[in-house]
Amino acid sequence: MLFYFNKVRYPTFSFYCLALTCSMTKKERYRFVIDYFQKHIPEAETELLYDTPYQLLVAVILSAQCTDKRVNLTTPAIFKKFPNVHSLSKTNFDELFPYIKSISYPNNKTKHLIGMAQKVVKDFNGEIPMTVDELIQLPGVGRKTANVITSVVDNQPNMAVDTHVFRVSKRLGLVSSSANTPFAVEKELIKNIPEEMIHKAHHWLILHGRYTCLARNPKCDECGLKAICNYYKKLPK
Ligand code: SF4
Repeated sequence: MLFYFNKVRYPTFSFYCLALTCSMTKKERYRFVIDYFQKHIPEAETELLYDTPYQLLVAVILSAQCTDKRVNLTTPAIFKKFPNVHSLSKTNFDELFPYIKSISYPNNKTKHLIGMAQKVVKDFNGEIPMTVDELIQLPGVGRKTANVITSVVDNQPNMAVDTHVFRVSKRLGLVSSSANTPFAVEKELIKNIPEEMIHKAHHWLILHGRYTCLARNPKCDECGLKAICNYYKKLPK
């Protein structure tokens, strides 16, 4: 089989991979990955179910160390009982806890949700703030959550780095080997991905990590990015 990159013809897949990854600039690597995702996951978006910024914030706080699927089973009852930040701010631990008890870390998350709602009502006039600096003042909201909210709701060029984004970025060689913290990975991705695509790239990397580039057994055989993947290049063939 023949492969082409930069108008160069490569005769076999393994040789192609080697030649391609060695000759690629960082810009070309990003271009390759973005082109692939644009073609294969054109409509990337969060898998959390929500209708309003308030609902998304509740869902993202609940999703820490928990699957989106589990969160989506839980949130409809919460949104029905507490349809907005005002109703959530008036509840108490014993009333909210039963709705959350099937999710990981239910004690902390119950406290965080009530604290978040009370602070939004008190300090932000009942409106979910839409800057990272404001959001991280809310209980249960760290930088990752704030980046998710601002990028999903407002398409701001912020990159939330979760375990999937971290792993996939490293394996694909999108970030340097010295980028060993979520913040370091975030900075490198932000620097190299075109600004208008950053909010979408977040979902591309998450979905690829969730369904193809799995942590323990990545599905490299069916992955369209193996031609440029540093991890794949090192696998015994
Ligand atoms: S080739 Fe394998 S390790 Fe590389 S991105 Fe694809 S699934 Fe992940």
